[in-house]
Amino acid sequence: METIISKIKKGQLNNEVIKKAGEILKSGGLVAFPTETVYGLGADALNEKAAQKIYAAKGRPSDNPLIVHITNMEALSRIVSDIPEEAYLAAEKYWPGPLTMIFRKSSIVPYGTTGGLDTVAVRMPSHETACAVIDAGGGYIAAPSANTSGRPSPTKAEHVEEDLGGRIDMIVDGGPVEIGVESTILDVSVTPPMILRPGAVTKEMLSELFGEVAVDTALFEEGSANPPKAPGMKYRHYAPKAKLCVVEGAEDEVVKEINRIASEKIQKGGRVGIIGTEETVGRYGQGVVKCIGTRQDEATVANRLYAVLREFDAENVDSILSESFSGNGIGNAVMNRLLKAAGHHVIHV
Ligand code: AMP
Ligand code: MG
Repeated sequence: METIISKIKKGQLNNEVIKKAGEILKSGGLVAFPTETVYGLGADALNEKAAQKIYAAKGRPSDNPLIVHITNMEALSRIVSDIPEEAYLAAEKYWPGPLTMIFRKSSIVPYGTTGGLDTVAVRMPSHETACAVIDAGGGYIAAPSANTSGRPSPTKAEHVEEDLGGRIDMIVDGGPVEIGVESTILDVSVTPPMILRPGAVTKEMLSELFGEVAVDTALFEEGSANPPKAPGMKYRHYAPKAKLCVVEGAEDEVVKEINRIASEKIQKGGRVGIIGTEETVGRYGQGVVKCIGTRQDEATVANRLYAVLREFDAENVDSILSESFSGNGIGNAVMNRLLKAAGHHVIHV
């Protein structure tokens, strides 16, 4: 199949492109489009056959449910059977935005979209192009990250083309995304509400809103007795081809240890990648060194994370050593993705 690739400049919605995307979605096809978090692979969420095509294109396990994207609260009331008070509160504050909430589904949402679950995940994105595509496509668009399952999520249209070119009908290229990690997933059907996946709407922000929020404990543990409550979080995910190891500790010690391991591996003929920060990159003597952002603002790290992992794939390194991050605010989402990409391979110094 030939994939149509159309560019849309920020603030300049192109009606022809949006119309074409809408037609493809309404006839059951697949369109990748930018959102503020990562690029999504869209299909009509209420058309079981269309949603199934997403699984085939991505190679996604069929028990991993999709997030339904909408642009208004009326659409929400049609696809869920009950809207808890907490959901109104969170929607008021963080919709449109990088927050997904879990609800009990209504009968119009097919099980093919929810991975057989009676619940449905819903998000209202803020990205102008995303909203236009969703509306043009009928208003209910299932859109997981537009990558091959298991690879780092796409933060640029080029990443989508790399993974899915020739397998989907269209890519709407809106340039690089703003946030760079997937939405926060919040289960509002339990008390207190529980974070199933950390993202740009942070635990700190949600605690302020609800007084108390829980976090799915399976998220940061390896081989936890209970599987993660968001089915997708159990898979090896976000991963580069090379073996990734995270080194944790005081900055000077971390730099020393990464230099030591890198030099050992290089002496044995290995090709080593190093993930450093603006504060440290100058202190790495060898290997393929990449700057992921600044510790002063970990949103910059979230923004570069997946692109850096993909860049290392292109450089054919066989191992990657990464510094670790604070775990606070958006740093929590960064560490969650980094630890998963590393298969929880961590060295403490
Ligand atoms: P992606 O769209 O690729 O970011 O993946 C969607 C994520 O949302 C996966 O981790 C899913 O497991 C999770 N998810 C979707 N629907 C539900 C649901 N009904 N209950 C819990 N998690 C869900
Ligand atoms: Mg994904």
